[in-house]
Amino acid sequence: MTNQRIHEALDATGRTPSDQDLDTLSRQLNRPVRDVVEIGARCVCGNPLVATTAPRLSSGIPFPTTYYLTHPVITAAVSRMEAAGEMNQMNERLATDTGLAAAYREAHESYLANRQAIGERSGTGAVPEIDGVSAGGMPTRVKCLHVLVGHSLAAGPGVNPLGDEALTGIAQWWSKDKCYCSGAWDTEGEAPKRDRSRHVKTQGVDPEAKRAERARKRAEAQQQATEGNQ
Ligand SMILES: [Zn+2]
Repeated sequence: MTNQRIHEALDATGRTPSDQDLDTLSRQLNRPVRDVVEIGARCVCGNPLVATTAPRLSSGIPFPTTYYLTHPVITAAVSRMEAAGEMNQMNERLATDTGLAAAYREAHESYLANRQAIGERSGTGAVPEIDGVSAGGMPTRVKCLHVLVGHSLAAGPGVNPLGDEALTGIAQWWSKDKCYCSGAWDTEGEAPKRDRSRHVKTQGVDPEAKRAERARKRAEAQQQATEGNQ
């Protein structure tokens, strides 16, 4: 994995999240974002498309999924592709097309190399609990197209073949040369904020860790509900 080049679409300046970026992410997801350390990809207008989470949350929990699609227009478009059964044909091709399977394995290695670099930059360092574990079904299966598209956007074209394919597949709904932000999320009023009052450890239990776990389950359920509704 150390012989993998780092593929990142944005430079250090582009990756650095501003307060406004974090506010926008919370609006896009309609929940307060946590443990986002960088922006993985941006709209041509500058708004975030992908949130980058450190490989270890501030609660201490290892977190393998580095890139999370946050732009509602892209998320919905990818959900449509999933609902159309695109993952089945991708999995069938992975089982028979050795070239594709090799390129997909490379994408997995590249994902791990990026995550290691992000861990170093964000100060979480090595996370041995998730060594060799990427996301989205990589390296041999496709289980979540959102993960692959997030990776493709953050890494740039030519790194994740199936993420790139999915981006081509959603071109009628979203493409990277156009801004689809207008009206895509609520820009009125306060952005969803976390409740700081419960950020205190009490005897024996770690409410922070519990909350992170609940948030993760909620996000998963939400994503599944979104996918199911498409
Ligand atoms: Zn935009």
